Amino acid sequence: MEIYYSICFFVFGLVFGSFYNVVGYRLPKGESLIKPGSHCPNCNHELNWYELIPVFSYLCLGCKCLKCKKKISPFYMFFELLTGILFMLSYLVFGLSVKTIIAVTLSSILVITMISDILFYIIEDKVLLVGGIILIIELFIYHGIIDNTFDLVEAFKGLGYNLLDGSIAFGIMYSIKLLGDFVFKKESMGGGDIKLMFIFGLTLGILNSIVSIFLASIIALPISIIILKMKSTHEIPFGPFLSIAALILFFSQVDIIELLTI
Ligand SMILES: [Zn+2]
Repeated sequence: MEIYYSICFFVFGLVFGSFYNVVGYRLPKGESLIKPGSHCPNCNHELNWYELIPVFSYLCLGCKCLKCKKKISPFYMFFELLTGILFMLSYLVFGLSVKTIIAVTLSSILVITMISDILFYIIEDKVLLVGGIILIIELFIYHGIIDNTFDLVEAFKGLGYNLLDGSIAFGIMYSIKLLGDFVFKKESMGGGDIKLMFIFGLTLGILNSIVSIFLASIIALPISIIILKMKSTHEIPFGPFLSIAALILFFSQVDIIELLTI
């Protein structure tokens, strides 16, 4: 049964990942998420249903547009696969529980964040707002369910702590930005990274949120050096590194206090 559920979660992840590509690509450009349907960026050929199957269509059609034969970047397939893997991990780590839904929601927010930040250097407010509200509702339910009953006091108490963690994490990131602006005499960090930290505080707790900033910096350093050498860009978005760090900490369920006391 576990294999069956794992595959289900993976397939759902692929389908949702395909939609998140559309959200991450279109929302920053102010385009509709529904119309027009998916099309080739080169020849505008509207994709048929058999060209829209996540991952498989891309691989079966030889990584190119069926009509104009222009190569299509594996970027979108990568994020479909990543979403599939994250959804499957949500089930494998947390089973069938409210925590699984929280993991799926957090993964979704972070996948869209990575896509839009890499493509446009933008972390969409709408994604953080809608995702944040969904997370708050899920956390409320998560804290309230005790032994098959719902305890309203526990629900409010638990959520209160989560909101406090979110606010402190936001405040810390905002302070780092102010310090960075002062030292470098220019905008050191995007507003999206600071708002993202509120989502981290909610879901990871305050300590792991702080650790995520350090972990993201460690991951970013070698990769940034390689990208800067390969491309003629001077700007590398930090959001994707923060997202990767947060996902590692969330799914590994590392307890920093426990680690430090050993
Ligand atoms: Zn084409």
